[in-house]
Amino acid sequence: MAEAANSVPRFDTRTEVDFVIIGSGAAGGIMARELSVAGFSVVLLEQGPHLQAADFRHDEWAYDVNNELTWSARQGHPQTFRKSEDEEAVPVRQALGYAHNVGGSSVHFSGNFWRFRPIDFMEASVKGSIAGTNFADWPISYEELEPYYSRVDWEIGVSGLQGPWDPPRSRDYPCPPMPIKGSDVLLERAAKQLGLNPYPAPVAILSQPHNGRPACTHCGFCNGYGCEMNAKSSTMIAMIPQALASGNCELRTGCTAARIETDDAGRVTEVVYWETDGSVQAQRAKAAVVCANGAETPRLLLLSASNRFPDGLANSSGMVGKNLMFNGYSTVAGLFEQPVNAYKSIPATRVVHDYYELPSSLGFYGGGGIDGRHPTRGLPMGLAMSSSLFGGPSWGSEFKRNLQREFTHTAAFDGHTTSLPVSSNSVSLDPVVKDKWGRPALRCTYKDHPDDIATMKFFYDLSNELMSAAGAIKQAGFYPENGQNGNVHLLGTCRMGNDPASSVVDRFHRSHDVPNLFMVDGSSLVTSGRGQPTMTIMALAFRAADNLIQAARRGEV
Ligand SMILES: Cc1cc2nc3c(=O)[nH]c(=O)nc-3n(C[C@H](O)[C@H](O)[C@H](O)COP(=O)(O)OP(=O)(O)OC[C@H]3O[C@@H](n4cnc5c(N)ncnc54)[C@H](O)[C@@H]3O)c2cc1C
Ligand code: SF4
Repeated sequence: MAEAANSVPRFDTRTEVDFVIIGSGAAGGIMARELSVAGFSVVLLEQGPHLQAADFRHDEWAYDVNNELTWSARQGHPQTFRKSEDEEAVPVRQALGYAHNVGGSSVHFSGNFWRFRPIDFMEASVKGSIAGTNFADWPISYEELEPYYSRVDWEIGVSGLQGPWDPPRSRDYPCPPMPIKGSDVLLERAAKQLGLNPYPAPVAILSQPHNGRPACTHCGFCNGYGCEMNAKSSTMIAMIPQALASGNCELRTGCTAARIETDDAGRVTEVVYWETDGSVQAQRAKAAVVCANGAETPRLLLLSASNRFPDGLANSSGMVGKNLMFNGYSTVAGLFEQPVNAYKSIPATRVVHDYYELPSSLGFYGGGGIDGRHPTRGLPMGLAMSSSLFGGPSWGSEFKRNLQREFTHTAAFDGHTTSLPVSSNSVSLDPVVKDKWGRPALRCTYKDHPDDIATMKFFYDLSNELMSAAGAIKQAGFYPENGQNGNVHLLGTCRMGNDPASSVVDRFHRSHDVPNLFMVDGSSLVTSGRGQPTMTIMALAFRAADNLIQAARRGEV
C-alpha cells in the first residue's frame, strides 16, 4: 500500500492555524479544498491512510471480509448495537459502516447521486407532524442549495440526464449519462410497461473524461471498492489534490482526533489527536470544522465533554447523536433465461422515481426510488458466500451450476427509501466496550419507524411487480421487516436548525453553543431524502465553505 507522503507546508502544532478540519471524506475533502484555496491555513486530520488509485484491488476477501477499507473490530474498532434504549447493546462487527481513508466513503461508495428535491426541505410543513418523530423542515430551501448542487456536478464530476421528476437545475450535467446495462434495459422496459418513467441514473462517475480524469472502464468492482481509474468522483481525487496544491493545506494521515478543547470563554482552542504510534499531539486553531461523518462527529463531541460542557460539546440541545437516519432499502432478485450481465459496469444505470412521494391515501409517510443492480454487487465471491439466491443446495455440483448461472443471469431491483428522524435512534458512547485507543466504542441504537417499514414494503412489492413485468422466471427478495441492524448512510446526528433548543448547528453549520466550531457532514441533515444522501452532503459542504470563508474574512469566526 503506497502511503502518500504528508504534504508541505508543515504547520507547528503550537501555532494557531486558521482551521483544523477533522475528517477528509465527502464533506471534509471539499471543506479542505475550499478553505485552503481561499488562502486560509488548514490542517486536515485524517485517521486513515492516503490511498491512491494504484492501491485499489479487486480483492473481495480484503475489503468485504477483512474490512480493509472500512475497519471493524479486526482493526481495533468494535461497535455495539441495540434496537431500543432499554436494551443492552451487543458487540457487532459493524453497524455503522464507512471507509477510513482520505476521501472517506466517497472513495468506495456506489456513486449514486440523487439531488434532493424542493419538497425534501419543507416536507414537515406540507405533510404535517408524524407521531414519535422529530420530523422538521430544513432551515434552508432547495433554491438556496441549488447553485452548490451544480458546483458538485461540475467540480466533483457527475454524469446524468435531467429526468422527468428532477428538480430545476441551473446548469446541465457536465457528462452524459452512463451507457445502460443489459439488466437495466429490462428494468426500463418493465417500468414503462407499468406506466412508470425510468430514466438514466445520475452518478458521481465519469462517462467521459472530465477535469483531467478519465472515463469509467466498467470494471464492475465499484460498490465497496476504490476506483483504479480515478473515474469515480471521490474527494480523494476531485478535491484533495487541489487542497494540497494550494500550499495552504497540511494533510496529516493516521491522525485520530481524540478531543476538542475549549477555553473559559467556551471557544475551541485546539484539537487533541493520536498519531499512528499512539503519541499524542494537539493542533491549535482559530476554528475547528468537524467532518468525521454522522457516526464519528457526534462521538467526538460527546468525548469532548468538559466541566463547561458536561453533556458533550455543542450539546445544550441534547441532540448530539440523536435522530440517526439510515435510509430504508429493499431488494428483489430475478433469474432470467438469458444472461443479463448485471455484474458489469457501475452499480446502477437506471432509476424509477415515480414514487418519490407516496400518496397520503396509503396511510403512512414515505417515498423513494428503485434502481437496477446486481444481487451481490457484481461480486462472485459474494454470491458464493450468500449461497444460492433461489434455493437449492449450498455445496456440491448443483450449487456450482447454480452459481455459474445466477451470477450472469440475475438482476436485482432495489428500493431506496425515507427514514424518519426519531430521537431514540442514536449514536452514543458504549459504557463497556472500548476501541484500540481506549475510547468508548460507537454504540448504535436503531429501530425503524413503522412508516419506514411500511415504505420499504411498498417498494419491495413494487420491485416484485417490476421483476415479473421484466420476465424473470424466479424471484427472491428481502426488506428488513423487523428493522435494520446497521447501514452506511449516517445522517442527522447533529441536525441543522434555527432553534438552538432542537438543533446542533445553525443554517451555516456553526454550532449554536460554540462560536468557532462547525459540523459539516452527513450529521447536518434534517431529513434523510430518499436514499443517496452524498450529493446533498457535498452541496452542503460547498455552501458551508462559501459562508465560512465570508465570515472569516469579516472576522466573524
Ligand atoms: C459501500 C458504500 C456505498 C455507498 N454508496 C452510496 C451511494 O451510492 N450514494 C450515496 O449518496 N451515498 C453512498 N454511500 C454513503 C456515502 O459514502 C456517505 O454518505 C458519505 O461518504 C458521507 O460523507 P461524510 O463527509 O459525512 O463522511 P465520510 O465520507 O465517512 O468521511 C468521514 C471521514 O472522517 C474520518 N474520521 C472519522 N473520525 C475521525 C477522527 N476522530 N479523526 C480523524 N478522522 C476521522 C474518516 O476516516 C473519514 O475519512 C455509500 C457508503 C458506502 C460505505
Ligand atoms: S466501474 Fe467504473 S467507476 Fe466503478 S470502479 Fe470500475 S472503473 Fe471505476
